[in-house]
Amino acid sequence: MDALKTLLKNVFFPQNYTCTFCGREIFGNKPLCRDCDAALPRNDRYICDRCGRKTPYPTTACSDCAGKTLYFDVARSAFTYDAPISFALLNLKYRGRKFLAEELAAEMEKTYLKTFYPCEAVVCVPTSANKIKERGYNQSEFLASALSKRISVPFIRGALVKTRDTGSQVGLSQKERLINLSGSFAVKDRKLIEDKTVLLIDDVLTTGTTTNLVAKKLKSAGAKSVFILTAASVTLGRS
Ligand SMILES: [Zn+2]
Ligand SMILES: [Zn+2]
Repeated sequence: MDALKTLLKNVFFPQNYTCTFCGREIFGNKPLCRDCDAALPRNDRYICDRCGRKTPYPTTACSDCAGKTLYFDVARSAFTYDAPISFALLNLKYRGRKFLAEELAAEMEKTYLKTFYPCEAVVCVPTSANKIKERGYNQSEFLASALSKRISVPFIRGALVKTRDTGSQVGLSQKERLINLSGSFAVKDRKLIEDKTVLLIDDVLTTGTTTNLVAKKLKSAGAKSVFILTAASVTLGRS
């Protein structure tokens, strides 16, 4: 009788859900449709030891890291920046689809547990006040907040500030990016960072210029170590 009741309930009130990433209707209580789950570009093959980007073979420093002064200790990303993760991240960034942060943080947690020493503080790459006014939120903050709860490490909201708008980085050379960004990030209160192992969160590791600069700020504010964790990273040779 109970089975019949359940069957009738499902026929008349089906448990319909939509795929978190593509929006397609799915049945059951999984967050992703089968196609999206199978297509997830998990960054679990060869990576650069330092920046965590996907590489064609194992390496201690990829061509992007070699010869650069890196201020972070280790960077990792749960995914490569490919579909459907790239779509999910665009939806998170421009449409404020906060629920996506929860799903992405679940995958970031796996990467955190697999790679890093336990961290003492979670911080995120800040957005300028103008951008916050325009968009209403900072997508990296959504990720940092969701992850912080999962790993039980406090999220220090506002530990870092972006002091001015730096415009788009697209099309700028490495040197121009540095000039464009220099002096635009600041640690609000040294005491929150000093002597701590800090986990810096961002949505995408693109060229790495921003995260490296923020890591530099954190180190000069006394951070013991800076680990970077992003939802995705752009594979070298593509942008
Ligand atoms: Zn899907
Ligand atoms: Zn690298």
